[in-house]
Amino acid sequence: MIFPNVRIVLVETSHPGNIGASARAMKNMAITNLVLVSPQRFPDEQALFRAVSALDVVNEAKVVDSVEEAIVDCQLVIGTSARGRRIPWPMLDPKGCGEKVVAESGEGHEVAILFGREDRGLSNQELQQCHFHVNIPTGEAYSSLNLAMAVQVICYEVLQAKLAGAPEQSWDMDYASSADMERLYEHLEETLIQVGFHDPDNPRQLMTRLRRLFNRIRPDQMEISILRGILSSINRLDN
Ligand code: SAH
Repeated sequence: MIFPNVRIVLVETSHPGNIGASARAMKNMAITNLVLVSPQRFPDEQALFRAVSALDVVNEAKVVDSVEEAIVDCQLVIGTSARGRRIPWPMLDPKGCGEKVVAESGEGHEVAILFGREDRGLSNQELQQCHFHVNIPTGEAYSSLNLAMAVQVICYEVLQAKLAGAPEQSWDMDYASSADMERLYEHLEETLIQVGFHDPDNPRQLMTRLRRLFNRIRPDQMEISILRGILSSINRLDN
């Protein structure tokens, strides 16, 4: 397997044909781990029909209930999006995405690339769990690709980066996983409420902005323990 620790995550796909076509697009590009978050119709004949010789990818797809569950152990999460969002996020172009995925998966990190619903894409909350967003440049008149075609473009870039020998990167610690980060955000939010900095009844964009800050920094596991330790010391001040 060329990409054992890269997974493609399809969120609440409505048409099973798109699941099969995505599986084929993946396998053509040597990526085989497919995770389905609450697909509307699955298993389904249409998925198998469109997968053709990628039946194994469809049959081995993991079905989960939430994006959180799909990315819980991931150290790099990339979200694909057809349109810009209100709070801009660090962006990659498809080629940069391919290089990033190869660099980090080559280092042993678990990587997820998220694709949204056919009608509404990914929610803001789902996009905020990503380190980077990727947009596939399109003609101005129509920016939304068919789901499986978007999967094809991104997986193509991942394989091209691998074939081009994109450099692997190295860091002395593992990056925090998505689950570590969610625990940090919970702890941080509780602490900010405790010290009176954050009003949950008037949250504004505080947690979104803090998420964006930490996503940009990409803390490692040691740094997360230090931050959690600092928060615990603050929590104890009230006792
Ligand atoms: N109407 C939706 C688009 C859904 S297309 C919207 O406005 O958000 C289904 C999925 O295909 C998207 O969620 C995204 O994962 C992917 N996709 C489609 N076009 C894309 C593009 N130009 N760039 C990146 N991803 C795209």
